[in-house]
Amino acid sequence: MINDALLRQCVHCGLCLDACPTYVELGTEMDSPRGRIHLVEAISQGTLDLTPEVVRHMDLCLGCRACETACPAGVQYGQILEDARAHIEENTKRPLVQRLRRQMTLAVFPHPRRLRVFVTLVRWLQNLGLWSLAERWVAAASLFPRLHKAPSLQSTAAVGPETERVSVLRGCVADAVQPQVNLAAVRVLNRCGVSADVPKGQGCCGALHLHAGDREGAQRLARQNIDAFAGSEGSAVIVTAAGCGAAMKEYGELLADDEQYRTRAEQLSRRIRDVTEYIVEKLPADFELPGAEASVTYHDACHLAHGQGIREQPRSILRSIGGLTLTELGESDHCCGSAGSYNLTEPEMARTLAERKIKNIAATGAECVAVANPGCALQISAGLKSAGLSVRVVHPIELLDEAMAATASKSATTKPNS
Ligand code: SF4
Ligand code: SF4
Repeated sequence: MINDALLRQCVHCGLCLDACPTYVELGTEMDSPRGRIHLVEAISQGTLDLTPEVVRHMDLCLGCRACETACPAGVQYGQILEDARAHIEENTKRPLVQRLRRQMTLAVFPHPRRLRVFVTLVRWLQNLGLWSLAERWVAAASLFPRLHKAPSLQSTAAVGPETERVSVLRGCVADAVQPQVNLAAVRVLNRCGVSADVPKGQGCCGALHLHAGDREGAQRLARQNIDAFAGSEGSAVIVTAAGCGAAMKEYGELLADDEQYRTRAEQLSRRIRDVTEYIVEKLPADFELPGAEASVTYHDACHLAHGQGIREQPRSILRSIGGLTLTELGESDHCCGSAGSYNLTEPEMARTLAERKIKNIAATGAECVAVANPGCALQISAGLKSAGLSVRVVHPIELLDEAMAATASKSATTKPNS
C-alpha cells in the first residue's frame, strides 16, 4: 500500500515526538509520528489489522507536518499519511455518522458554487439573528465568522506601468468565507505594478479530499486546475491560502502516475507562490498604517511553515509596515487544530489545541494576530470569541493593503496643488 522506501527513511530516533501536537497532548507513542509510522509499516506488511483503535490513531493525526520539520532524516511523513489515509478509506467501513460527516464535508466545501450558496444561506441566517441557534446545537457552526457580501474577484490591471502578470487562485473556502483576503492581495499586486488574471474554470485545490483519503477526488481537481491555468504559462500563480498552496506545490507527486498530466502538473507546481513569498520581493519602501501604533503577532500556519518552509516572508512584510510592531508568538508553529476539516471531524482535540493557541496569543498582549490560512483564521477567531478576547484576526496581506492605501491617500492629500 505504501512505498517501502518512504517508510525505511525513518530511523526511529524520536526527535520528532516533542514537535507533534497530538503526542504533546496525549503522551502516547501511537499518537506520535514515530508510532504512526510503525503502525503504517505493520499494516503494510500485513502484520496488523485495521482495527478501530488503529484507525483512531491515524485519524487523530492533524497532518500538520511539524514532524517533517523536526526530522533529521528527511522522512516525508505527509506523503506516508496521504497514502495511509487512502488505504484506510478503501479498506474500512466507517460508522454511519462519520461517513455522513465526511460525505457532507466533501459535498459542500470543495465546490465553489455550492459553497457560495451555503455561505449565502449562513449570511441570511446571521442577518435574521437565527445563526446563534445553529451555534447552540452544532459546535462547527461557531467557526463561521460574521459574513458580509463582497464584490467578486476579477482580473485587474497593474496600477502604472506593468512589470509582471500573474494568475490568482480563487480557492473555495478562502473565496467564500474570507473574500476580503483575495481582494486585498489583488490590490497589493496591482499597486506593485503586477497585473492579476483570475482564470475561469479553476476550482478547489484538492487538499480537503487528500485529508479525507480521497486521492482520486484530489487528482480530478488537480487536473481541472492544470487545465484552467494552462492559458497563462510562465507566470506565477498566487495563492493566499497556505493549505491550497502546499497542496498545489505537490501536484507533481499527486499525478506522478498520470502520463498525460504528469509534466504539466510539475510545471504548474513550480509556478505556485504563496502571496507573502511573492510580494516580499516587490515591496516598495515607506508605507504605514493610519492611526496610533498597533501591535501584531504572527501565527505560523502549518501548511505554510512546515508544508512550504515559509516563515520569514510574512514576518518581513509585517516588520516593513510603519506603525506596526511585531511581537513573536510562543509556539507559533504549533497547530491551532484547524487542519483542513479536522476541527469538524475531531472537535475535541481541535478545541484543546485552539485553547492552547489562544493562551499563547493572549500572552503577547497584541491587538491583532496575522494568519495566512483561512482555516487557521476561522479556528483562531472562534477560539478568541469563546475566550471573550477582542483580538483582530487578519491576513498579513490585508494589513499591507491597508497601509499602502493609507499611504497613497496621505500622499495624494499632501501633494502641493500644481
Ligand atoms: S503530522 Fe502533525 S499530528 Fe501528525 S504525526 Fe506529524 S506532527 Fe504529529
Ligand atoms: S520521523 Fe524522523 S524524527 Fe521521527 S522517529 Fe522517524 S527518523 Fe526520527
